[in-house]
Amino acid sequence: MPDPLSALIDLVAEGGVAVLSGAGLSTESGIPDYRGPTGSARKFAPMTYQTFTRDTAARQRYWARSYVGWRVIGRAAPNAGHRAVAGLQRAGLVSAVLTQNVDGLHQAAGARDVVELHGSIDRVVCLDCGQTTGRAELDARLRAANPAFAALAAAINPDGDADLDDAAVEAFRPVDCARCRTGVLKPDVVFFGETVPAERVDRCFASVAEARALLVLGSSLTVMSGRRFVLRAAKLGVPVAIVNQGPTRGDAYAAVKVDAPLGTVLPALGDALTLAQSGRSNEP
Ligand SMILES: [Zn+2]
Repeated sequence: MPDPLSALIDLVAEGGVAVLSGAGLSTESGIPDYRGPTGSARKFAPMTYQTFTRDTAARQRYWARSYVGWRVIGRAAPNAGHRAVAGLQRAGLVSAVLTQNVDGLHQAAGARDVVELHGSIDRVVCLDCGQTTGRAELDARLRAANPAFAALAAAINPDGDADLDDAAVEAFRPVDCARCRTGVLKPDVVFFGETVPAERVDRCFASVAEARALLVLGSSLTVMSGRRFVLRAAKLGVPVAIVNQGPTRGDAYAAVKVDAPLGTVLPALGDALTLAQSGRSNEP
């Protein structure tokens, strides 16, 4: 029986691979994985859509922490795993890139036509008028509305779930939509308690159906939002390969399982398939 990495190489070498990536792919870029092996650091319960829309104080806390977290996410760079996926796509072996991540790092590494299942932290949407704007623009508005907080935020060491004292958070003033003036702004990401738009899900199902194999990268497949694509692949007889540190809820369906760091496995995979590694702007 071949070792798991060899089996993975053989599978990907055939091409037509749909990639489904999760938080584990971005941990090596410094973005915390709340569900994976390093997820114990989570300090706050995840924000739900219901709480965000109904609870003004909760929304204020969310934006205060998010302002600080953006210092990390906005500066994060793609890692060797993201670059390997982009390289495999350029080499014609990857037919689709589906991601549960909202950090935009696949695209930053050069991947094209990425389907962002849970949206993107780079955009903000008005819940009243529907206008979508860039996060950088909102960041500037938040900074202008909260000069004292901005100075405080710049001085602390952010980890995505920022340590902030309550008084500072309570003094934080979120801003409303710049177009309609009163609309509540929400990051253009799918919160817990919210469903992924049906057309986006359908596009992912279609990619899985057309694929020769489904390659899961860095997801424990805990939530149905991602697991359903593994179940669909299994039902259609599309082989599933999983690269993840630790067990996943898709392991029973996996033809190949590599339990190792993605930052090691994916470059090895790329090298084995004799790819010129992508590494455009972030090669060390
Ligand atoms: Zn608006």
